[in-house]
Amino acid sequence: MRRPLVAGNWKMNGSRQEVSDLLGRLAGLELQQSVDVAVFPGTLYLERAVAGLKNNIAVGAQDCAIRDGHGAMTGETSATQLRDAGCVMVLVGHSERRELQAESDEVVAEKFVAAQAAGLIPVLCVGETLQQREQGRAIETVTEQVEAVIRVAGIDAFANAVLAYEPVWAIGTGLTATSEQAQQVHEALRGVIACHSASVARELRILYGGSVKADNASELFAQKDIDGGLVGGASLDADEFGAIIRAAGI
Ligand code: PEP
Repeated sequence: MRRPLVAGNWKMNGSRQEVSDLLGRLAGLELQQSVDVAVFPGTLYLERAVAGLKNNIAVGAQDCAIRDGHGAMTGETSATQLRDAGCVMVLVGHSERRELQAESDEVVAEKFVAAQAAGLIPVLCVGETLQQREQGRAIETVTEQVEAVIRVAGIDAFANAVLAYEPVWAIGTGLTATSEQAQQVHEALRGVIACHSASVARELRILYGGSVKADNASELFAQKDIDGGLVGGASLDADEFGAIIRAAGI
């Protein structure tokens, strides 16, 4: 039985004051035992989040360098340093980085490996653009994004990872994939993993992301291959995020 995970990606949001306020409200949430919860604040606020969240909310980073350890990579933060700061997870391959930083599947695969080498759980984000969906290439696109990581990291690496399906056209747009559309891709993704290892596929958590809100979360999370959500905008509001977490609970 896969434990649901609800993860909040704060993106490049929040001042010191706003982050403190949000952390205070999150720290006060009564969480169900049956759901794992994580937040992904901006790098500057990671340590503050680790210190402020004692109620079993895990902290993750939004990105990491392609190499773990330390060295000459100006401006980068390694998975090793993130782990040292108290992070337990890291997003890799978020569509905003694939698009704005031109991160290729190969770079994403390197980050996935670096994250695990440092002891972090990578949350691998995949998703198709609107054009790719309209061309009927949604499943082909996400399959290739996942296979690119399997080629480098190996299938067993997915025993200690999370996959997030985030259709690019649904991120921050207010458009959400229908629960049927999302389930179809999640099932296909689990099938891709199962072609390599049935046991890894059975245990792998696959999150849905793309304008998840309190009022659409229950229907999405009720799908058999959807194991929780990666939530952007709605995770900045503690009440809304709390309601999404409750929707994932049993
Ligand atoms: C995200 O950034 O991962 C995301 C899903 O954003 P939103 O919920 O705002 O669409």
